[in-house]
Parts: sequence; C-alpha cells; structure tokens
Amino acid sequence: NTFAEIDLGELLNQNIRRCKYVKPTPVQRHAIPIVLGGRDLMACAQTGSGKTAAFCFPIISGIMREQYVQRPRVARTAYPLALILSPTRELSCQIHGEAKKFSYQTGVKVVVAYGGAPINQQLRELERGVDILVATPGRLVDLLERARVSLQMIRYLALDEADRMLDMGFEPQIREIVEQMDMPNRGMRQTMLFSATFPREIQRLASDFLSNYIFLAV
Ligand code: AMP
Repeated sequence: NTFAEIDLGELLNQNIRRCKYVKPTPVQRHAIPIVLGGRDLMACAQTGSGKTAAFCFPIISGIMREQYVQRPRVARTAYPLALILSPTRELSCQIHGEAKKFSYQTGVKVVVAYGGAPINQQLRELERGVDILVATPGRLVDLLERARVSLQMIRYLALDEADRMLDMGFEPQIREIVEQMDMPNRGMRQTMLFSATFPREIQRLASDFLSNYIFLAV
C-alpha cells in the first residue's frame, strides 16, 4: 500500500515523496481510486484524516491529464478547472499551501480567495491564471457577481467540511455557486463532498449535488 501503486503520475508522485508521505491514510487509500475512476464521492472524514490530499491528488492528476482543455479568453475573467470550497480563511489558506506543494512543477496553478481581506490582491492573482481555485463561499459569490470568475469550465468540485459550512449559514451561497456550475452542462463535473458528520441537511446536499455517488465512512 503505497502512493506509487495508485496511478497518479510520476510528477505528482515525486511531490508526494517530497512531502514525506509514504503510506496513504485510510481516506486517501479509498477516496483517490474512486475519484480517479470517475465517480462522485461523499466521504465522512475528520480533520487530521488526510482528507486534503484525498481530494487534491485526483484533482491535480486529472488536470495534468486534461491540459489540452481550451479555455475561453474573456478579459479579466478567470476560468478555473477545479473548485475547492472551504468554510474559513484559515482552512482555505491551509488547503492552498498543501495544494501548491502537491502541484509543484506540474504547471497546475492554485489560487486562494477568501473573505475578510482586500479583494484587489486576489483579483491580480486570478488574472494571472488559475486551474484550481480554493475559496470561501461568500468571497466566491462576490467574484462571480463581478464576473471575475466563471465556473463554466469546472471539472472538479470539492466541498470540504460541508457540515461546518452549513453551520456557518453558507447554504444559499453554496447552492448559488453550484447552480452557476450546472448552467452550461452538468455532466462535466465530478463532485466530492467531505463532512465530519452526515446529518439530514448534508444528505440533502449530497443528493442534490452528487450523481450516483459512492459513500465512504472511515
Ligand atoms: P488533513 O486531514 O488533510 O488536514 O491532514 C492532516 C495532516 O496529515 C497534515 O499535516 C498532512 O500533511 C498530513 N498527512 C496527510 N496525508 C499523509 C500521509 N499519507 N502521510 C503522512 N502525512 C500525511
């Protein structure tokens, strides 16, 4: 049971070794092959389980395979291929830091956008191009309203700590975001929902956002 046995690509495997990850954690061992196999995923996983890598690895690997994707060039609008939604600035920055290490020298560009901070710096980052956008829901809605981000090209959506996002009242923003993603063509998107708990509200999100998903509890 090693990362090398999972088909993530040599470049990503090098970065995984550089991070000193030797053995996949249980959530990684199960979740990564499910997502690489093209399925949607609902995972019950706690902080510390290694869930960040569990959703980042298949996203980075998938984007590296899809680098032929042509994206529209509309002035100042960014077209990410993957979106990772997280409840707080702290968690978003943490995910951004990890995702940057995982994507080192792969050509996959990761940008973070969160609320409670000036937007200008984030806008400048987005203008330089983005493959994976890590964002808090409120700030992303703001960027969508300014037409500085388009979700038309999203192939991968990961919702991290979904129960916490609902506790913080982000459900309307999350629904608005996913609606925009589904407007052009819904079939394109692969979705991963991570939550520490699985109450009725999360089950409803799962049945609304995921198609034919695999449920994973570790
Ligand atoms: P997370 O649950 O994603 O916040 O990860 C918790 C911590 O475990 C982070 O510091 C990761 O860098 C680390 N970690 C995740 N996966 C592995 C792994 N397979 N081997 C060693 N450390 C890991």
